[in-house]
Amino acid sequence: MSIAQEIAKIQSELAPYSSKLIVVTKTRSIDELLSVHACGILDFGENRVQEMVDKQAQMPQDIRWHQIGHLQTNKVKYIAPFIHLIHSVDSFALLKEINKQAAKNNRVIPCLLQMYIAQEESKFGLDKQEATEILEHPELASLSNIEIVGLMGMATFTENTNQIQSEFKELKAIFETFKSQQMGIASNRVHWQELSMGMSGDYLLAVQEGSTMVRVGSAIFGPRA
Ligand SMILES: *Cc1c(COP(=O)(O)O)cnc(C)c1O
Repeated sequence: MSIAQEIAKIQSELAPYSSKLIVVTKTRSIDELLSVHACGILDFGENRVQEMVDKQAQMPQDIRWHQIGHLQTNKVKYIAPFIHLIHSVDSFALLKEINKQAAKNNRVIPCLLQMYIAQEESKFGLDKQEATEILEHPELASLSNIEIVGLMGMATFTENTNQIQSEFKELKAIFETFKSQQMGIASNRVHWQELSMGMSGDYLLAVQEGSTMVRVGSAIFGPRA
């Protein structure tokens, strides 16, 4: 199937759910990105800062760029002028740097806290206690150039759908707990709106468990080199 056909198929699968498709374009060429844009997709996800910056300069300016991979504090300045949503905030220090660079650009940058839900050693992310510490941090209210709008997580890379499903349920439960406790709301920097979960292998499980954004790459383009 072509890129357009794959996107149409995924969008029809997502249609019954209120989940937005973010097309993950890391390692893909500008021509491939233009084919995605031609389908009317405006949400693009990248995980390397340099690659995103290079592509952003070459692509149509109506694209909403999502930082989905681990972000080093010293690289925030390169994406701060244009980034639409940072999915991968995993420390208060990173949040402070995003706030500083957003202020320099006269804007507010929306962020998600990346939660660790997988049973794998290599994944970045916070546990519930660490996320709570960020959300209750006394300095959070002073970060007027960021807003935390939800959570992101990645399930274990496995064929075991029961395990993936239980990890998504766990993340959704944390989201609902934070939301019902109005966690961080008093700071005025927190709005419980988005739950970014689901990739090529598990996006249908994710939307069934309440994802509001799926990040899909290889199901559209084929395997990465
Ligand atoms: C690469 C990546 C994706 C997309 O992965 P696919 O399996 O190609 O869909 C989603 N989220 C993150 C954080 C990624 O790094």
